[in-house]
Amino acid sequence: MLTRKEYEAAQKRAAVMIRDANIVVTAEEAGRVEVADFGLSRLDREGAQILTLVATDRIAAKIIVLFEGQTLPEHWHPRVGDDPGKEETIRVVRGTLRCYVPGPDTLREGFVPQGQQDAYTVRQELLLGPGGQTTLRPGTKHWFQAGAGGVVMYSFSTVARDILDQFTDPNVQRTTRIID
Ligand code: ZN
Repeated sequence: MLTRKEYEAAQKRAAVMIRDANIVVTAEEAGRVEVADFGLSRLDREGAQILTLVATDRIAAKIIVLFEGQTLPEHWHPRVGDDPGKEETIRVVRGTLRCYVPGPDTLREGFVPQGQQDAYTVRQELLLGPGGQTTLRPGTKHWFQAGAGGVVMYSFSTVARDILDQFTDPNVQRTTRIID
């Protein structure tokens, strides 16, 4: 749950970071950056700002902004019927992304949000700077964290059905509630 004021402040802050990364977005797009607190009500620690550039029933392209210290909770993209699940390529434009995937625990630069040890189970750390990219196969658990100054990245994927994403933290609710 976020207040309208918090939601709009995060939207504006994300739009500034997108433009500072030299990505052109229209005023209309800047005004529909989605602020996700994942139902956890601690946006500064766990959350994300997402601008969908295109989403059809085959592909999606988004810009994801994480503020410094913000973590996008661990999740995976499940199979849906005949679709093996979303395949997602992340490409960093500005800042450093800490990306965590299955494998040996190499977590050094980043940190698990306080009190959330059980909600972050994959600990292999990939550090991606501008121009760095990685592809996440369907069903692969992953979580993201911004380095100093925050991070701006693209997400290119097959069809996105965010509402069906599975999160390790049972308290996550994908739809953000805004209170006036
Ligand atoms: Zn994902």
